[in-house]
Amino acid sequence: MKTFDVYPLFNITPIKAEGSWLWDDQGRKYLDLYGGHAVISIGHKHPYYVDALSQQLNKISFYSNSVVIPQQEKLAHLLGELSGCSQHNLFLCNSGAEANENALKIASFVTSRKKVVAVKNSFHGRTSLAVAATDDEKIQAPINRNEKIEFVILNDLNELANAIDENTCAFIVEGIQGVGGIQLPTTEYLQFAQECCKQNGALLIIDEVQSGYGRTGKFFAHQHAAIKPDLITVAKGMGNGFPIAGVLIDNGIQAKHGMLGTTFGGNYLACAAGIAVLEIIKNENLISNAEIVGNKWINELIAMPGVKEVRGRGLMIGIEMEFPVSPLRKLLLEEHGIFTGSSSLANTIRLLPPLNITENEINIFNMAFVKAVNKQLIVK
Ligand code: PLP
Repeated sequence: MKTFDVYPLFNITPIKAEGSWLWDDQGRKYLDLYGGHAVISIGHKHPYYVDALSQQLNKISFYSNSVVIPQQEKLAHLLGELSGCSQHNLFLCNSGAEANENALKIASFVTSRKKVVAVKNSFHGRTSLAVAATDDEKIQAPINRNEKIEFVILNDLNELANAIDENTCAFIVEGIQGVGGIQLPTTEYLQFAQECCKQNGALLIIDEVQSGYGRTGKFFAHQHAAIKPDLITVAKGMGNGFPIAGVLIDNGIQAKHGMLGTTFGGNYLACAAGIAVLEIIKNENLISNAEIVGNKWINELIAMPGVKEVRGRGLMIGIEMEFPVSPLRKLLLEEHGIFTGSSSLANTIRLLPPLNITENEINIFNMAFVKAVNKQLIVK
């Protein structure tokens, strides 16, 4: 059997990793400024994380949600404490798409409605409702083209006011659009969205799968706008690579047995990973590091050659260049050993490094970036 070939791959085989660094099977070292799509929050192979998972593995790694798993309550408590969302309840699942799928289902259960308002240029995952609410026809199968989704332009208040109505169960929007090229909803927009949802009896879902977990200098990106969503979805940085995701659910929403469910969600190992990540974020002040080094970095990047615009907050950064970035990213990888990310915008590079990246590592990138851009400009 062979694997189903759906991914364009770099011809690189990482075999070990530590902090912000990877090593391949040829012994070459790489600076990881992408964390495999924003997943590596506390750095690769963090000793506390490795120890917590190893210890759990030596006790019990799995049982289903038919027994008491105290680690789930510990994780929920810590997440509530660190995020400031202790008034929400937590449903644990396995991936970002699954978290959004469940959030949309909850909104429909609660309101008995079917219409969803989502944002153009969004990305919410690849399962049926999540992909229907994702504005990318290329990744929707005909079975996913759900006429109950209405797309609106990000930050357009009029469109939003017209779209959210008495048939709407939810408005879903990313805390910061990631795949869409690091596009920020304005404070005014998020506050208006909250108000529109309230007035129409719809629920507000903020997808923090990429923008959450401290990356932007607050636990959640939407907290920069001081709103309180009904539902918040999390994944990526939550387990630092161990598959775990969740939906934070306003405690005014009643749970019913059988309403949601999963075999793997909230298992012992996943919880051990989730707890270790939160403890490291807390003990090492990683949210504050993301804010300080990230915002300084954004200011440095703005002044660099070939840069048209830098969007983002903390360590969620989009560099829009004056030219398509694919050759530049290739140069950074092949000549300088630096992983960066692409986006749906041809001219935008995405940077999503571990939250404990150091200024020294950032300087290594900055120097390589200037060299690569200058080479690229000469070639052009
Ligand atoms: N939501 C956002 C904002 C994402 O960026 C992603 C993945 O890139 C997802 C949802 C889907 O997450 P997953 O790939 O874990 O299903």
